[in-house]
Order: sequence, then C-alpha cells, then structure tokens
Amino acid sequence: MDKNIIKEFIEDSKHVTFHFVYEENSGKIRVLNNHGYEISPESGTAIIEGMTKAYVNLSDVEMNNIRMHNAENDLWNYSQSYGPRALETPFRNNLKGNWGFTCGMCGKKVSSKTDSSWWRIAGSDYESNHKYCSEQCIQTVLSEIKQKIKIETYERFGVR
Ligand SMILES: [Zn+2]
Repeated sequence: MDKNIIKEFIEDSKHVTFHFVYEENSGKIRVLNNHGYEISPESGTAIIEGMTKAYVNLSDVEMNNIRMHNAENDLWNYSQSYGPRALETPFRNNLKGNWGFTCGMCGKKVSSKTDSSWWRIAGSDYESNHKYCSEQCIQTVLSEIKQKIKIETYERFGVR
C-alpha cells in the first residue's frame, strides 16, 4: 500500500463525506464524495488494502475489540442523551403543607420540614417513582442501573 497516497487522500477528505454506490449488474461498489466526484482508482486501491487489513480475517481478539469499541461508543452516546442520571430537586420553602417520603435506598425519612432537597433518577426511557435522600444513596442505585445497561449493551453488540 502506498502510504503517501492514503495519507494524502485522508488529508483531502477532512471536509467531504462519502457514499457508496452499488452497481446491481456488475456487483461493483463505487465511492463518490458529496460533491459528486468519484475517488481515484489509486485511492480506491489503497483504501481497499487498508480496509482489508482492518476488517478481513480478523482474530477473535480483533473482532471483539471492534465490538467493544462500538458498545462503549453506544454507552457514551446514551449517557449523553437519554441515559439515567441523578437529579436533585430542592424542596420549595413556601409550601403550605409539608410532605415527605422514605428513601428508596437507606430507608431514611425525608421531609420538606427538615431537609432542603431530595433526589430522583431521570432519563427519558427510565421510569421509577423511587425517591432518595442524598447523592450518596442515589449514586449507589445509579451505578447498579448503569452496570445493568452496560451488560445489556455488551450483549447487544456481541462483546465476549
Ligand atoms: Zn438514603
């Protein structure tokens, strides 16, 4: 593989996106950029060589590393968007009547009379009515939930 060709191609590719065109009759795959230009045959050859090294005849370890990378990426995306997180809510100090609950973790009685805030777990596809007394209590629950999500995600991506 000509390293200069591939390095130049990657450098030139920073601000374009590519898409694949499949030719039904010949079975050929062509690569065009978003300005409509087809990549040069020299670049195409260099890319195929590099991708063959990356994706063809992988060892189990290499295969697993790709799955792991994608699972970790999925977990990161999830944690940045819908994933469950701890949310602290202050008790309003102008309440007409006090209210309270029992911490879902340690069983402590929490009341708007004596405490300044309470905690819950928020996340758009996570539902629970449990309330918690402190960050310490909710973090214990949250790390259990995250561990469960991690196991499920690794399974979904086939990580071994
Ligand atoms: Zn607690």
